[in-house]
Amino acid sequence: MKISEIGEFGLINRISKDTIVNPKNILLGIGDDCAAYYTSTDKIVLATCDMLVENIHFTLSTCSPRQLGKKAIAVNISDIAAMGGIPRQALLSLGSSSDTSVEFIDQLADGMKEEAKLFEVNIVGGDTVRSPLGLVINVTLIGEVEPELIVRRSTAKPGDLIMVTGELGGSAAGLSLLLEEKKYSSVPLNIAEEVKSAHLSPTPRIKEGRIIARERLANSMIDISDGLASDLIRICEASTVGAKVYASKIPILSAAKEVGRLIKKDPLDLALYGGEDYELLFTVSPKEADNIIKLLKKELNAKVSVIGEIREEKEGIKLENLQGKVVDLQPKGYNHFRR
Ligand SMILES: [Mg+2]
Repeated sequence: MKISEIGEFGLINRISKDTIVNPKNILLGIGDDCAAYYTSTDKIVLATCDMLVENIHFTLSTCSPRQLGKKAIAVNISDIAAMGGIPRQALLSLGSSSDTSVEFIDQLADGMKEEAKLFEVNIVGGDTVRSPLGLVINVTLIGEVEPELIVRRSTAKPGDLIMVTGELGGSAAGLSLLLEEKKYSSVPLNIAEEVKSAHLSPTPRIKEGRIIARERLANSMIDISDGLASDLIRICEASTVGAKVYASKIPILSAAKEVGRLIKKDPLDLALYGGEDYELLFTVSPKEADNIIKLLKKELNAKVSVIGEIREEKEGIKLENLQGKVVDLQPKGYNHFRR
């Protein structure tokens, strides 16, 4: 069945089922002119949105509608994590051709609801329009954070250590495999699955972000959406500081190293420039680094690594490569891996 057969209202009816998973504070979800909910008087509202356009940000040949829906919510939740916040409400705007099947939209919406439910996020509204040029998905996410705990990207200080959660490079390795599946059939199945899943189903680091914010441990923070290099440069530019990163200290997912070797892509490039790992990149005063490592290990069994330090702006943004040579860190990002 095509969308054109059920119309916009039919579509909204299907999407709006099971969208309120945390009814506390919700007065009205989908169905009136606006959503209506109570906000906490002691918190700041965080608002972010991310638009995904078919054949620019994703292609339906490499992901299922369910995976796409899940990821569209996850990448927005990641931005809330980067501020130290808690995600609360989502609004979803969807453009699709009238030939799109109802089943496709059902699966897309199911993926969104699945991810939203994991983080107790309600889908409270949105819009649906006809798009002759393919699928367009825009998610707006509203979150909140205590004013004294908000972590910005603009407050890194010279002398801070640069830290990153988890391991990098998995998403870019996964995307390489997804784009040229046949060419890379020599990659062992379990390794291929691990990196593809890193690309298709990233986990937003909300819990890590909350601990980092709660303990007031970080001076600055950002999530890695466009690549370690690009996102570190964003912190440096916003904070008017320089930085030095050590290639030997960057944590690279071992499956990404293996894939890099098999497909002849430098794993360090995957980690530095690949993007979409959705780990948290943050800076801390040196005396707090051990605290963070211990706390994240104890509370979440999560890995966090020191990869460099913030310097004065005049020292530039540098990478010490594996040969010990110091070079400028280039803001090659996500597009690096796209045609
Ligand atoms: Mg971000």
